[in-house]
Amino acid sequence: MRKVKIPLVDLQIHHKNIKKEINEAFKKVLKSNSFILGNFVEEFEENFAKYCGAKYCIAVGNGTDALTIALKCIGIKPKDEVLVPANTFIATAEAVSLAGATPIFVDVNPDSFHIDLSKAEKKVTKKTKAIIPVHLFGQSVDMQRVTEFAKKYNLKIIQDCAQSHGAKFNGKYLVEYGDVCCYSFYPGKNLGALGDAGAIVTNNDELAKLCKMYRNHGRLNKYEHLFEGTNSRMDGIQGAILNVKLKYLDEWNSLRRKNAQIYNSLLQNISQISTPKELPLSDHVYHLYVIKTKERDQLMNFLNENQIATGIHYPIALPFLKAYQNYNFNPKDYQIAYKLQSEILSLPMYPELTESQIVYITKLIKKFFNFHS
Ligand SMILES: *Cc1c(COP(=O)(O)O)cnc(C)c1O
Repeated sequence: MRKVKIPLVDLQIHHKNIKKEINEAFKKVLKSNSFILGNFVEEFEENFAKYCGAKYCIAVGNGTDALTIALKCIGIKPKDEVLVPANTFIATAEAVSLAGATPIFVDVNPDSFHIDLSKAEKKVTKKTKAIIPVHLFGQSVDMQRVTEFAKKYNLKIIQDCAQSHGAKFNGKYLVEYGDVCCYSFYPGKNLGALGDAGAIVTNNDELAKLCKMYRNHGRLNKYEHLFEGTNSRMDGIQGAILNVKLKYLDEWNSLRRKNAQIYNSLLQNISQISTPKELPLSDHVYHLYVIKTKERDQLMNFLNENQIATGIHYPIALPFLKAYQNYNFNPKDYQIAYKLQSEILSLPMYPELTESQIVYITKLIKKFFNFHS
């Protein structure tokens, strides 16, 4: 086999295909002086709210801020506890701490990688005020069960949708479950800006009003401030770029899904690997294509030696990070997350990945396992 280099995500080819429209967007913003918030951001807020089936979209500086502002504006206070999955990006938990509250980690399901609600039950105390389901890798969490769980314990639901742009649950928009959805438009996400950007999406009038003021110094108008907020406003350039890219999101997501099906069919007979499990009522928009294998490190090295980039999401589950060493967690409570961190491997996944590239990658994987078909 001829050696070809395949990245985990290819933003060069992604943007090359829409280069003309991107250049137009840059020119428009430069001409208009709408550098912070302004008409391009407002247009995006309108378009993205519509895309999410929501009444409101509030564009902010990044996904971490989206979560933090949503938590604060929904009324999470210092000393409150918020349930978060043990396997997610640190920002999910960081936002809870930034809001002054305490993240309480919950072990995950080994197949869906989602927060395990039967284990969450054991973590609920009088201080528990909210839960953050993370639609990890692009697959929506069972929001029916989360809604029932939250109702039982009177919890707010803040959804971390940073990896799940476009995913629904049981045919319904995610915003229809729970109080608020938080998005990141970090460049590598399914919908990515050309820098940091994020959004809060909700149907709640009061929450929308508060978030909109909070992101802009608690401002009512130029010099009248109702409370102290922060500075977390989307740039005009990001709004204009996201407006261009949003039109293609469904097409890109279906290409990701198609690529996942190709991987699945080519990897299905390798007993040392398990491919991603799709839940019956969930959508999966494959932000990442994550397999599990006991020989993860060796396979990863082999692929990397052959110029195939891979990733681990995430190599250290949150309760085991130095950042949380002063929290009183029992490592025994996170056995699944701990086991997963040594078995999961993210293979190249992006809309422009070709079938022949996937055939090449899976041939190498078969070679590694000495697989004869
Ligand atoms: C990317 C990501 C975030 C944070 O988004 P930023 O825009 O980088 O702040 C939060 N949660 C998850 C699950 C993410 O993947």
